[in-house]
Amino acid sequence: HSTDPWREFDSSKVYMADLESALHYLLRVELATHNTLAGAELKTFKNVVTVVAKLYPGRASVKKVMENLLEWLVRLPLESIPYQAILDLVDDKMRISGLFLGAELRWVGCQGSRPGLRGYPCSLWTLFHMLTVQYDASPQLLANTALDGNPAAVLSAMRGYIGTFFGCEQCGRHFEEMAAQSLDQVTTTEEAMIWLWSKHNLVNSRLAGSLSDDPVFPKAPWPSPALCHSCHQEKDGVHTWNQEQVLVFLRQHYGAANLSPRYLP
Ligand code: FAD
Repeated sequence: HSTDPWREFDSSKVYMADLESALHYLLRVELATHNTLAGAELKTFKNVVTVVAKLYPGRASVKKVMENLLEWLVRLPLESIPYQAILDLVDDKMRISGLFLGAELRWVGCQGSRPGLRGYPCSLWTLFHMLTVQYDASPQLLANTALDGNPAAVLSAMRGYIGTFFGCEQCGRHFEEMAAQSLDQVTTTEEAMIWLWSKHNLVNSRLAGSLSDDPVFPKAPWPSPALCHSCHQEKDGVHTWNQEQVLVFLRQHYGAANLSPRYLP
């Protein structure tokens, strides 16, 4: 909404409002472009619902919506599912039990300086970074799911989602290229966090100065020295990352304790 008031925010925090807006957009807008889900698409959707239902670090009511959705998907061994059935479940059936996923976009850390910038893609990156960090902290959370025992589980789910459903098809192709090149080299949950961080920085550097770059939030290597001084080091005048410190920072920044409930409806 261009009429939305500007919401002051702290870029060292992660906002639940952004994560909930991401889930709202994913389930009610992006998915709605598919009339039915079947085959590989259905499997991809199930994987995303699995990682969110099991690893989502935000409000319990939102996690429960995703858990109910997962339970329903697992219980119904259908070959194909009409999108409308998913929407009915998310919208009506859960409301009866007092659960509700907010139906509005309320960007905070992902606000753009004008409509069309930041927002959903920003929140999707944020969501998946958080999930890689949660999975590393508590790998047992994926026990008894189809993804159990795969250190790259979150990344595989993300790869599937971005390649199949993400509205920006060019983004999907780029991401698939990176995944095809090196995702099979990820063998631990630490490597998974670092993989996503480093690929995200590659995307940042490719997009710096492009049309999708918000001039008020220019793309730059992340985290900046202001956010994490010890993440940066210089060897013989050349900048390098201190990966140990980057890991420490990722765990802190995307850890559940750094989530802010500010601006939630
Ligand atoms: P974003 O890049 O969206 O980042 C969101 C937030 O994550 C930042 O505000 C920061 O807090 C944090 N962050 C930044 N860098 C890192 C990092 N390295 N590790 C961890 N956290 C970080 N747009 C295109 O035009 N072309 C593309 O090919 C393209 N590919 C994309 C692929 C994917 C998988 C996704 C999710 C998006 C893609 N986009 C692409 C969109 C683009 O990457 C940005 O999301 C969008 O331009 C909004 O940018 P932003 O400034 O909000 O920051």
